[in-house]
Amino acid sequence: MSDKVFFLDTTLRDGEQTPGLTLTIDKKVSIARKLDEVGVDVIEGGSAIASAGEREALKRMAKEGLKAEVASFCRGLTGDIDAALSCDVDAICLVISTSKLHIEKKLRSTPEKVLADTVKCVEHAKKHGLIVDVLAEDGSRTEMSYLKKLFSESVKAGADRVCLCDTVGVFCPEKAFEAVQELRKSLKVRLGFHGHNDLACGVANTLAAYRAGARELHCTVNGLGERAGNAPLDEVAVGLKYFYNVDTLDTRKMSELSEFVSVLTGVPVAGNKPLVGRNAFAHESGIHVDGVLKAEGTYEPITPEMVGQKRRIQLGKHSGRKAIELKVKDLGVKATPQQLEEIFSKVKKIGDSGKEMTDADFQVIVFDVLQTPVEQHVKLKELVSLTGSNLTPTASVKLDINGIEKVSAAIGNGPVDAAINAIETALGGTNVKLSSYHVDAVTGGTDALVDVKIKLEKDGREVSAASAGTDIVIVSVEALLKGLNLLFGKEKK
Ligand SMILES: [Zn+2]
Repeated sequence: MSDKVFFLDTTLRDGEQTPGLTLTIDKKVSIARKLDEVGVDVIEGGSAIASAGEREALKRMAKEGLKAEVASFCRGLTGDIDAALSCDVDAICLVISTSKLHIEKKLRSTPEKVLADTVKCVEHAKKHGLIVDVLAEDGSRTEMSYLKKLFSESVKAGADRVCLCDTVGVFCPEKAFEAVQELRKSLKVRLGFHGHNDLACGVANTLAAYRAGARELHCTVNGLGERAGNAPLDEVAVGLKYFYNVDTLDTRKMSELSEFVSVLTGVPVAGNKPLVGRNAFAHESGIHVDGVLKAEGTYEPITPEMVGQKRRIQLGKHSGRKAIELKVKDLGVKATPQQLEEIFSKVKKIGDSGKEMTDADFQVIVFDVLQTPVEQHVKLKELVSLTGSNLTPTASVKLDINGIEKVSAAIGNGPVDAAINAIETALGGTNVKLSSYHVDAVTGGTDALVDVKIKLEKDGREVSAASAGTDIVIVSVEALLKGLNLLFGKEKK
């Protein structure tokens, strides 16, 4: 048997079981395409028996011509398998409850009956040409002798691979290792491991299972999943590379994949999430910035490029002089040592006030100290944004870009989207990308103060800006203009 490590991604099945999360057919298919791009081997795309929409999504994935196998979740019922067959998927994940607790309390059945039903299901699926993966649900709380029996009978009936599921995340790495090692002894087929994160060991258990011989690792993007979620795909793939030098997925695409799934699911990624979180390669404290500027490895275990991230120097009350100097240089201006000192103390003061500093805020401080007016390269002359019922949100803008007037109009998902689209159209051909848009209601109620934070990118340079006020359209446009003026300002120098 080859030693290749296979990945089964279940973002579209287990991940979609995140409380409150449902995806449209189009979103599911576009996520499947992205998963295929990073090199996932099996995509568990949903559960065919669940709904007509699920079947449609699975059918479309099966027709996409993906390199990955497309699999449907099935319970141990022939009806579930027939539903999967109707979608033309390659494989099924036949999920069988194996623990005494699940068999007695949930299924109200007996181990003997579960075993007989499993064999029947495997035979039925194999007769119709499906690849069959038998997943032992709650396998981590199942007696080893029964688990071995269920797997060996399944393989005898034709199952192509089997998987140990730590359904409620109760394994620790040592236990996961022991269980996988024991199961491996008598198995001739690929053994998988499906780890959950309830006790925060999802990734560690999955890596331990790999060490013990599991060769199909189940993960989800951003660790989405029921309760505390599943083992995150990026963390397991990078763990394999970092700890054991095993190449698997294209890790350079992990940040893009994470963001894509976050936007489509509406589930944000925590700033401190390892690898792809906003802060995973951000440095604020003076000691760290100084270290990273001298040698990146001092405070970065891997390069940000390995996961498609960027290093970011954040200014705040922990900043040192080195970071300030670097950021001033970034603005394309020169400051004397005294001026740098003044900028430094102003940054600290803002940090102490509890406010997060954006690049645009920093520019205002620097130009104020240098007594240079902040040049307005992009000025807003007019803005109209309309929305209503039975009306496509539409906006028109008039901008003055370095003395040249540009007028344009656009539609959008809502008034903010329309206004931003209209500005983007007016900028046409300037290669500016709005890479992040975030809005918070600072106070409650319909008259709430909103705080908009944005990030813009142009030719590899990223700037952040923010604005606050009561009108979400105006505030969004103001933040956008602040960012644009930073980008265009640098260009002129
Ligand atoms: Zn699961």
